[in-house]
Amino acid sequence: MYPMNLAESLLNWYKENGRELPWRVQISPYKVWLSEIIMQQTRVAQGLPYFNKFYDELPTIKDFANTDQDKVLLLWQGLGYYSRARNMHFAAKQIMNEYNGEFPDSLSELKKLKGVGDYTAAAIVSIAFDQPKAVVDGNVYRVLSRVFNVDIPIDSAQGKKYFQELADDLIDLNNPGDYNQAIMDFGAMVCTPKNPDCQKCPVNNNCEGFLKGRIDQLPVKSKKVKITERYLDFFEIHYKDQVLIQQRQGNDIWKGLFQLPLVELNSEKNKGLSNIEKLGITEVSSIEHRADKKHVLSHQRLYASFYKVVLDEKPNLDESFIWVDRSRLDDYAMPKLITNYLSD
Ligand code: SF4
Repeated sequence: MYPMNLAESLLNWYKENGRELPWRVQISPYKVWLSEIIMQQTRVAQGLPYFNKFYDELPTIKDFANTDQDKVLLLWQGLGYYSRARNMHFAAKQIMNEYNGEFPDSLSELKKLKGVGDYTAAAIVSIAFDQPKAVVDGNVYRVLSRVFNVDIPIDSAQGKKYFQELADDLIDLNNPGDYNQAIMDFGAMVCTPKNPDCQKCPVNNNCEGFLKGRIDQLPVKSKKVKITERYLDFFEIHYKDQVLIQQRQGNDIWKGLFQLPLVELNSEKNKGLSNIEKLGITEVSSIEHRADKKHVLSHQRLYASFYKVVLDEKPNLDESFIWVDRSRLDDYAMPKLITNYLSD
């Protein structure tokens, strides 16, 4: 069936059905970069309020570079994959310091920015600078593997090369930005992972995967994600009107975010309220178990328990712990697992 005019069909579909989104009006590289990083691994409905929040608070790359990291993490709070926020902050400083405050317009220079890979660089050069470089994200892999009935695993080196070349061949040279946005919207709205709307699909007559009844098997992935299980005891510790928190360090999930004091255990059976002693707190006025929560990340399954503790005296703790007024807890970016518990 190749070559069929997939680009033309998708552009026609996009004209009628494309989503009206704030980064698609008065397009700028800053808006494209912001939106593309926020929308990775995220549905538009979930990411849109974050884009608006960031753009309202930090309307230019200079504002982004000049703000502090805690503020960036607070704006990002709840979106997950926090390394994206830290990388954006780093990249904003790179643009100010190394590129005079202007986004570069070449793929190779864009890829020198922290957190900007092939996908984001292609989105910026095509949408903001009109260059014919195809984006290949999960939506594009899905659409192309189905339309062309391709079995090469999308997570293999061979698959990545194959689909990038195929996508670059298909791109509309006069309209690369719209074409890229069209195929991504089409993948998100019509050719969805489950139950794609094949009956109403404008390319169903040319979709080999559909015609051969192979939609459920495409795209093909070779690797299974290995999931690690972790066991966490969090302590909500009160002294008068203050609550104890700590900032996460090291190269782990939620780096730089704040949390309730944590004791991590190597198995479920070691969990329990007596673990408070591992924080160096031996005298408590009261302690009770409040909740158990399971939290699933892309590569980890977290089994968290929460305990509420009241103290009569402040213990001696190292400086990684901070006492904050309970009413000011919202000023600190925390993982969703903890904000959900605190708001219950
Ligand atoms: Fe996707 Fe179905 Fe359309 Fe093929 S026919 S492109 S599988 S929605």
